This record gives sequence, C-alpha cells and structure tokens, in this order.
Amino acid sequence: MNTFSPSTSKPDDYWHVNTGYETVYAKRINKGRFRTYKWFTASLWLIYFFAPYIRWNGTQAILFDIPGRKFHLFSITLWPQDIWVLSLLLFSMAFTLFAVTTIAGRVFCGFFCFQTVWTDVFTFIEDKLEGAPSKRRRLDKAPWSFQKIRIKTLKHLVWLLIAVLTGVTFAAYFTDVFWLWRAYFRFEAPAAAWITLGIFTSVIYLFAGFLREQVCFWLCPYARIQGVMCDRDTIMPAYDTKRGLSTADKKGDCINCKLCVAVCPTGVDIRKGQAEGCITCGLCIDACNSVMDRLGRPEGLIRYASLRELEEGDNPRIFKKNKILHRPRVLVYLLIILASLSGIVYGLTHTAPVDFKVLHERQPLFVLLSNGNIQNKYILKIINKTGRELDATITVSGPDGITLAGVSNPERIMVGKVMPIPVFVRIAPGNIERENTPVRFLLSAAGADGREIRSEYNSMFIAPEKAKQRKEKN
Ligand code: SF4
Ligand code: SF4
Repeated sequence: MNTFSPSTSKPDDYWHVNTGYETVYAKRINKGRFRTYKWFTASLWLIYFFAPYIRWNGTQAILFDIPGRKFHLFSITLWPQDIWVLSLLLFSMAFTLFAVTTIAGRVFCGFFCFQTVWTDVFTFIEDKLEGAPSKRRRLDKAPWSFQKIRIKTLKHLVWLLIAVLTGVTFAAYFTDVFWLWRAYFRFEAPAAAWITLGIFTSVIYLFAGFLREQVCFWLCPYARIQGVMCDRDTIMPAYDTKRGLSTADKKGDCINCKLCVAVCPTGVDIRKGQAEGCITCGLCIDACNSVMDRLGRPEGLIRYASLRELEEGDNPRIFKKNKILHRPRVLVYLLIILASLSGIVYGLTHTAPVDFKVLHERQPLFVLLSNGNIQNKYILKIINKTGRELDATITVSGPDGITLAGVSNPERIMVGKVMPIPVFVRIAPGNIERENTPVRFLLSAAGADGREIRSEYNSMFIAPEKAKQRKEKN
C-alpha cells in the first residue's frame, strides 16, 4: 500500500509524523458523508450532558451515590454486591472497542472519542470566530490589537464555558444535579465537587483547545496498542496508489491539490501510506471525493479499504470477501461481548430487593443443651436494597420440632447496611437422622407496593454421631 519506501525516498518522507512543534491549522470541510457521520456520533455526547436532568420516581434517574454506596439506574439500584454488573459493562465496552478496531481501525478515535469530539467542537468555534486556516495564521502572527484581543477573548471564554459545563456534568453524576448547580452558585459545594470541576475544566480546555491532535499522537495509550489489533483485512482510510499514480500510459487521478492533507485534523498525508497519527476520521475521503466530483472522475481515490483489497484487488464488500466477520479473532470478540451482555441483562433483571445469607458458626459446630437438645449457631447476613426500612420475619424449617432462637421477629432491617444477626437453631436428637441435616431459612417482609418480599437460604444442621445412636436406641 505504501508507495514511499526507504529506498525510493528520504527517511522523513516515509512516515509523516507531526512532531508537535507546530500547530495544525486544519481546513474544516463541512460537507461529505464522513463529516455527517462525525456530527451524528458527536451529537450522541449530548446524552452525557442531558442525562443527569432525567428524573425517575422523584429522584435522579442515573446517579452514582458514593456515600450511600449504590448506583441508581432508573428503577434499578445496584449495590456494591452487584458491582460485577458494572464490571461486565466495562468488559463488554472494552471488547467492543477491540472488535471495532480489528474491523475498522481507529474508527472509535475518529468518530466518538471525547478528545476528538471536543477538539472538533473547539476548532469549529475557532473557525467561526477566527476564520479559515490562512486567516488564523495571519491573526496569530499579527501584533496585539483591540480586534485580536476581542476575538481571542471571546474564543477562550466559549471554550472555558464548554469545559466548565463538561466538568459540572461529570460531577452531576455523583450528586443531585439541581442541588449541585445551586451549591456551585452559592459557593457551598463540597471540596470534591470543586476539585472535580477544576480538573475537568483545565483538562478539557488544555487538551481540546491547545494539545488537540498531540494527545492522539503522544498521550493516548489506546493509540499505542491498537496496531496489534489490525491486520490485512482491517479497513482504514487509504490512498489507492494504482489509481493515483501517473504512468507512461495514463495520467493518474491525483492532481496533487493537497486538499486531503489540508483537512486532516492530525496533519497526515494519507498518500504516503498509513501513519500512526491517522485517527481514521474519513475527512480526507470527503475532501478527495469532492475533488473527484469536480473533475468528473469516480470517487474513492481515498477510501476505506483493507491492505488485502489494495494489494490483491479483492472485492471491498465488507461481509463477504473482505473477511471482516470471518476472522476468528472478530468472532471471539463478538462471543465475549454477547456473553457479557447476557450477564448484564441477567444481572439487571435479577437484582433481588434483599440479599439474604446464612453462615454456619464453625467453632463449635454444635452444642448439647442441658435438656438434651442439639443447638447450632448461625449468623444471618441481610442487606436491604429496597431503599426503605423493612420489618422482616425470619423462620426456619427442617426436621420436626425445629426451633429458632435469637431473632426478634419482626426484625427491623436498615437500608443498605449489612445486618449480622446471630441466631440459634435447636432440634431434639430424636428427630435427627443424620450428622448433616438440611435446614431452610426463610425471610419474608412486606414490600413498598404491598407485595411480599421472600428470600430463602439453604444450610445444614450439624449433629454429633451420638444423636443418631440415641435415635436408634429409642
Ligand atoms: S489521514 Fe484522513 S482519515 Fe486519517 S486522520 Fe487525516 S483526515 Fe482523518
Ligand atoms: S485530495 Fe485527492 S486529488 Fe487532491 S491531493 Fe489528495 S488524493 Fe490527490
């Protein structure tokens, strides 16, 4: 794919790497298929800004309640015991990223990464206030004047406003958003809220306003590892050298207008082959297609294509010959994603209102009482996840004559706290047939909607060998 080789060109030409010493004044291209895709995927981030304002049953629908150690997601509340659901969510997101990278390279970077999206919005504002790249260069070099101060101040104020809004929104996922706004305006917000706001505002302002593509080049860890996920069938923006180059017989389609380079947000010349700075945003494709349209030549001189397609002329149809989905690693990724999503759905639909566990005391395993009965001690561990206090009745079932002591039915179960309750189960030896006898604990309580909350736990009652002998004697 790469027509520049160390033997035919200077080493510097081989990889066009922006070394960070100069600002990339990318020309904005406002028309084209990939430009539209970029706006669409960027607009999905609006959900991030609006989600904290959604109310559900009178409270914030999405809330990480750190002091209460719970996560609210509409009608579902996840407690620390359910953290595996969130872990699975992160796991499935990571593997979705791996699968997408294997199929289409850094497409996540180009279309959805917050760094790219915020940078795109910041440069859009810059373009509107300062004009096209040539004007921007002139303005930067011009001496300070009232006009320059006015434009620069306005631009930085708008950037700061977006950065502040991003920071407040992030903090709003951890506390009630309306309370948070009031607290900020009255300077009553807790230190953690101010620190979060400070970090987010400065990082967004610095990264999207100044560092921009340098973050993709030098700071992003994902950019470093994504190379191992790509192979000959991964589709990425690529320059078709067969079409572009002029030969003795025909004139190539590339007219060397350099529009593809001018619009690249990372300053890459895609005609020199794949570069590590390419975030696969497709803007060079839009630019080149617009040139081809004007020239009356077929689009696709730069296009999403795999190395196999460019080298072997393989059909670019994604789901057939390009082996996008026929690669074992993609299928493995998809299976892992499917398994994780199934686990998430199971977890979200099977969150019990009460977590009820019974631990058998090991020291001692049993006690012989003065009346001849055998006693086992257990610790009941109850977590009330309903959001309101519960009056729970706890009973035990097993052999005839089984009794439960130590529990003051009904027990008041506080919200969210682990309630350890020591209890004693007693059985007359004549009613025990084995050393290990199954017993079942039952917790029942009235839920907020009047429906009964029930939870059962199976355990063992342990008796000495003698009890069995006594029964045989009787
Ligand atoms: S080379 Fe093309 S696809 Fe890659 S970052 Fe530049 S404009 Fe985007
Ligand atoms: S935009 Fe197309 S025609 Fe112009 S330099 Fe780039 S590849 Fe060549």
